[in-house]
Amino acid sequence: MKLCLSDVIAARGSIQTHVVRTPLLPAPCLSALLGVPLHMKMEIMQPVGAFKLRGAMNAALSAPEGTHTLACCSTGNHGRAVAYAARQLGLKAAVFMSSLVPQTKIEGIRRLSGEVQITGRSQDDAQIACDAYSESPGVHAISPFDDLHVIAGQGTIGVEMLEDLPDLETLLVPLSGGGLAAGVALAARTIKPGIRLIGVSMDRGAAMKASLDAGEPVEVSEVESLADSLGGGIGLQNRFSYSMCQDYLDDVVLVSEEEIYQAMQTLYFEENLVAEGGAVVGIAALMSRKIADLNGPVATIVSGRNVDMKQFTDVVSGRDVVLGDLLVKGQSYGA
Ligand SMILES: *Cc1c(COP(=O)(O)O)cnc(C)c1O
Repeated sequence: MKLCLSDVIAARGSIQTHVVRTPLLPAPCLSALLGVPLHMKMEIMQPVGAFKLRGAMNAALSAPEGTHTLACCSTGNHGRAVAYAARQLGLKAAVFMSSLVPQTKIEGIRRLSGEVQITGRSQDDAQIACDAYSESPGVHAISPFDDLHVIAGQGTIGVEMLEDLPDLETLLVPLSGGGLAAGVALAARTIKPGIRLIGVSMDRGAAMKASLDAGEPVEVSEVESLADSLGGGIGLQNRFSYSMCQDYLDDVVLVSEEEIYQAMQTLYFEENLVAEGGAVVGIAALMSRKIADLNGPVATIVSGRNVDMKQFTDVVSGRDVVLGDLLVKGQSYGA
């Protein structure tokens, strides 16, 4: 089975009453700083604070007849999106998470009447519990990234971006399991074959990058990162997102925790926006000059805003941040 632009267009029609058609905003201050015209796709404006609602809603609307419960495993944003979609459609939601997930993310899901199940200490443990639960009749499981309905839903972002900015030359996509990159890249490459499509991940535990380099899905160890929503594996049995990233992305670039820290600060002080670490990796890649030969318009997807506020205020105040065994040294903005 292969996904086409027409599937993305169909997804757009299905989800349009449930998701926000976000603007593609020029970033004048950042553009001046970087020396390239930068646009930002404002997925931080979605109701659950992240783009994941697009894919989750499209998959929820495609659930088989007789479904009473949507199930998923998640590190946060996907679970929130599935809980929101379930509530919109009068269904129940069961979200499987590991004991490592921060309390704020769990509360976000419970507030949407989602039932949170804490199982084990890793995403893999949560996945196993979710798989077992999903065997029950009436339960429909939605993968965060390896599901064609999810990928088609995320792809609607690419369609909207090229509608708003047909001149777009380079598109930087935050990359984890690759559902976002697969959908956006499929849409953008089909609409504009010459466009440059680059995935961006953090350099600690970048599962898709390691898999693309190895030529097959591989496991990486999960470590703490400012880009927590980019953590976790792509699944050794990956069916769709891996091969689509292989086919459609031109390159994958990695950014360090220090670079993510500075990008969060810069977006806040230059454009007055609150975004989570995983959402600013495109800006981090530009600030650290990791994208060569930029000429025409560049855009990135500011993918989510569900950041732990204690961590966010530490970052914008220039305080140190401890991530497991790594200390990200604090630095005041502009200092
Ligand atoms: C999930 C997520 C991503 C990455 O999406 P994938 O489809 O897993 O590659 C990027 N940014 C945010 C905020 C996310 O929640």
